Amino acid sequence: MAAKPFASSADTAAKQQTLEVLADGVYALTAEGDPNLGAIEGEDFLVCFEALATPVAAQAWLSELRRHTDKPVRYLVLSHYHAVRVLGASAFGAEVVVAHENTRALIAERGQQDWESEFGRMPRLFPEPASIPGLTWPTVTFADRLSIELGGDRGELVLEHLGRGHTEGDVVAWLPKDRILFAGDLVEAEAALYTGDAFHRDWAGATLDRVAALQAEQLVGGRGGVARGRTAVDAAITQTRGFLTTMLEEVGAVHAAGGQLREAFARTHAALAPVFGHWPIFEHCLPFDVARVWDELGGIERPTIWTAQRDREVWDQLQATT
Ligand SMILES: [Zn+2]
Repeated sequence: MAAKPFASSADTAAKQQTLEVLADGVYALTAEGDPNLGAIEGEDFLVCFEALATPVAAQAWLSELRRHTDKPVRYLVLSHYHAVRVLGASAFGAEVVVAHENTRALIAERGQQDWESEFGRMPRLFPEPASIPGLTWPTVTFADRLSIELGGDRGELVLEHLGRGHTEGDVVAWLPKDRILFAGDLVEAEAALYTGDAFHRDWAGATLDRVAALQAEQLVGGRGGVARGRTAVDAAITQTRGFLTTMLEEVGAVHAAGGQLREAFARTHAALAPVFGHWPIFEHCLPFDVARVWDELGGIERPTIWTAQRDREVWDQLQATT
């Protein structure tokens, strides 16, 4: 069989971006499975959530947002450290760049490798990569919770770390007044999960329990459409958990039986593909996901750093000719 193109390197078709108004002064940009963004108006400032992969990519979203509001960006919130979510930060001109303290540590430890890895996996998400001025560094970090008063009768925006999940530094943004949750990559709506830097057991357990306990009325995940209404929100969370528990079960069965990684990949692929196989980035993500589950079950506590070279090795071992 012909070799599959590496990750999303052959995915060159532009996606349609859609700006949605979720409530007065609350915006989401979705893009058919490409990374989502959010923005929340304060009385005289904006909070933006996520930054895309390059300043040029971010500028296109800001131009759309500027049709609705001209308030300056005071806060840019990074949900986690991944390059396609942070390297466009300079376009926002934010006074404050907020992230979890573990995200800052991850950027220091592996931000450069992640940049090179993600650029190789998903080049389409990096328009004009030379516009990236360097790694993005948060200027304010927190451990558990940080509240931003929006002013007037807008209430507060609560930034929270709900436990380890997609990475060890995920942050969600919660608007209690409107019951709107920006979940970052902790929840995906009909898009495959990337779990190469994940803590699967924490994520599928206590962390998603805490996401669900918020009982959001609208949820913007990392990729996919906005989940509107309690039924759709719970479905997105359930589907995310299902992807994780299926991986844990299938990889776990092979691991416990003393089998091989390739066998775990084939078995997990067979179990997930009927439900999730047609979703964006499924084939791209799965080799990296299974490799991390395998490590986690083998007692490797923190994810091994993904480098452009390791990406290719894992791809060639698991996915290239399956
Ligand atoms: Zn991510």
